[in-house]
This record gives sequence, C-alpha cells and structure tokens, in this order.
Amino acid sequence: MKRVENLDLDHKKVIIRCDFNVPMKDGKITDNTRIVGALDTINYCINHNCKVILLSHLGRVKEESDLAKNDLSPVAKELSKLLKKDILFSEKTRGEELEAVIDSMEDQDVLLIQNTRYEDLDGKKESSNDPELGKYWASLGDVFINDAFGTIHRAHASNVGIATHLESAIGFLIEKELDALSELDNPERPFIVILGGAKVSDKIGVIENLVTKADKILIGGGMAFTFLKAQKKEIGRSLLDEENIEFCEKILANYPEKILLPKDVAVTNEYTNDEDYRIKKIEDITPLEMGLDIGPETIQEYEEVIQKAGIIVWNGPLGVYEFDKYKKGTDELLEFIVNNNKKAILGGGDIVAAASQAGYKDKVFHASTGGGATLEYLEGKKLPGLEAIK
Ligand code: AMP
Repeated sequence: MKRVENLDLDHKKVIIRCDFNVPMKDGKITDNTRIVGALDTINYCINHNCKVILLSHLGRVKEESDLAKNDLSPVAKELSKLLKKDILFSEKTRGEELEAVIDSMEDQDVLLIQNTRYEDLDGKKESSNDPELGKYWASLGDVFINDAFGTIHRAHASNVGIATHLESAIGFLIEKELDALSELDNPERPFIVILGGAKVSDKIGVIENLVTKADKILIGGGMAFTFLKAQKKEIGRSLLDEENIEFCEKILANYPEKILLPKDVAVTNEYTNDEDYRIKKIEDITPLEMGLDIGPETIQEYEEVIQKAGIIVWNGPLGVYEFDKYKKGTDELLEFIVNNNKKAILGGGDIVAAASQAGYKDKVFHASTGGGATLEYLEGKKLPGLEAIK
C-alpha cells in the first residue's frame, strides 16, 4: 500500500481526505486534536509545493436544518491559525464556483471544501459512495491521500470513491494507526485483551475474533453482567443484553480459561453519581442493585494478569467513567499500565476519552483516533478505505 513518501507530489494538485469531525459547541471547536493530527500530512504537501485541497465530513446531515450546525468553516479558521497561513474555503462542494477557486490556486495554497456530507442531503451521495460524486471530486486533483482513519471502515465517495479514480496513498496519521495496530498481527505474548463498555452486542465480532488469538480477555463494564448472567448469577438491575446471553454461554463454555470476569463490583440502587455505592462480591448482589464499576479484588486480579502482559489491547471503559465514583477501575488499570511501562493500544472512543480525562492518553503506546475503525480492524474485517488504496 502506498504511503505519502511513495508519491511524486511536487507541484501537484493533491486532494487530502482529513478527519475534521471535531466536537463543536455553539459554532466553536471545543477540541482541535483532530485538526492538529492532520498537520503533518498537510505540511508535507505544502513543503512539496502542492496545491492542497482538503475534504472532510462533520457530523451527520439528514435535513436542511443540519447544514448550519455542521458547517466546516470554523475548521478553516482554526487550520489557518495552526498552519500560520491564510486558507481558502469553498462553501460549495461541487460546481463552477469551486472549480474556479481551484483554477486560481497557486503552489502551497490550501483550500478546505465545505462538509462532504452536505452532499447527503441529496440522496446520501457522499455516505453511499455515489460513483458520480467520487469521480467528480477525483477530477479536481492529480493525486489522493486518505488521512481520515475515523472513516476508513466506511465506503464513502470522499474516500473510496476518489481512490478508485486517482493514484492514492495513506497519510501519516493512518500510517501511524496501522503501524500500531500491526503490532497485533504477531503479538508479544501474553496477548491480553481488556473489554468493557456498555453492550455485548457491540463487541461480538471483536470477542469472536480475538478469543482465538488472545491469551486472556479481561471483561468489565456493563457487558460483564451479561456474561455473569450466562453463569446464572444474580445481577440485580445491572445492564443486561438479554439477546446475547446465549452467545456469552457459548464463549464461556468454549474458552473457560481465557475469559476473566469481575469477582466484585461497586453497586448502587440508582444510576447517578449522587448516591453512595458499596463494594459487593458478585454472589451478594441483590435484585435492586446495579453494578457500575469493577471492585478492588477484580482490579487486583486484572493487574496481576496485566503485569505479565507482552501487549494489551483495550476497548471500552470498565465502569461508568463519566461518574467520578465509578471511574476507579478504569483509571487504576490505566495507571497500572503506564507505571509498569506496558505496551497498550487503546481502541478509540470512550476508553481514549477516559484516558485523556485521567491524563494517560499521551503516556500509552497508542491511543487510536478511530473507535469504529479500530473495532472493525480488531474484528478482522477488511477496511474499505484501505482496500481502495491497495
Ligand atoms: P462503549 O461505547 O460500548 O465502549 O460503551 C461506553 C459506555 O459504557 C460508557 O458510556 C460507560 O458509561 C458505559 N458503561 C461502562 N460500564 C458500565 C456499567 N457497569 N453499567 C452501565 N454502563 C456502563
């Protein structure tokens, strides 16, 4: 698969698909991490005297009222600040006006085109990879770089569509993600998986794929209770994924040595941060209680496993980390990993948010920027955005 350095970029019109899907509040960017993440590839192209054309989606556009709140122009301002140069911005995602701006571009100019998903208003053209749209966008440049890891598991016109028509490569951000994830192809042993989060249903593919490859899977979070239910334990009002009890039974029966479940949990009677919680052994949970975090005995047992780990991959927090009281299990294991210099890959989404909140995000081996994309990678699926470049 081609990487940026494999491309002959000098003086070319290069289209870069970025992930500028940044969190916004009242039209203001609240976290610019994703824009900062795109700078390496953009600067490389500027230094190679390219005319740089940037595409990205922002949020979802289903109806007219979604347009204003998903306007990408604040990103152009932020990018201009970060690059320390003026940026062109096109309100139009296609047509003569856009083409005229591109015709007027000089070497080292940077243009950001409005949210690719504005094209979704008219029959989901972007998100359903409308062939005409991909071909049209490709016609605007000479080469294509995909640097949006967060959408690599989707076939959209702005990634797969364009790559079908132009010489293409992955950008530095995707390269970094793939290099980290490739550590799991031949993992250092023992290979430990930590799985938490809300529902078993979201992680079935990951469990099925990793249970054969990993040495141990440590389970926590809401999904632990469906496994415990499968063992006929009383779980009170804890989160239950009724439809997947049978799946959990099967996994537990087939891999009894590999799956570790919590022995104790922090329970309460209400799903709130205000009420007091108690630490209870699983056997002592009563019908009105719900478990919102793993308990100290479980933390200790999981730490003993982590202590020996060659590599760890972690997806999903082990408790309701949004509430101060129930982030202990997640935070303590993160701290343990960092203090013991363990090689850990955090699989995007909530676990990265939890690590960021606790100050560990930059201390782990790799914190992925794409939750959905990493999950699909861990499920062993082919990622359409990459396949198109290959
Ligand atoms: P996911 O997107 O599947 O990784 O799930 C993340 C969510 O799982 C977070 O919002 C957590 O609050 C939630 N979660 C973690 N542990 C529990 C639990 N014991 N009960 C309910 N929700 C939980």
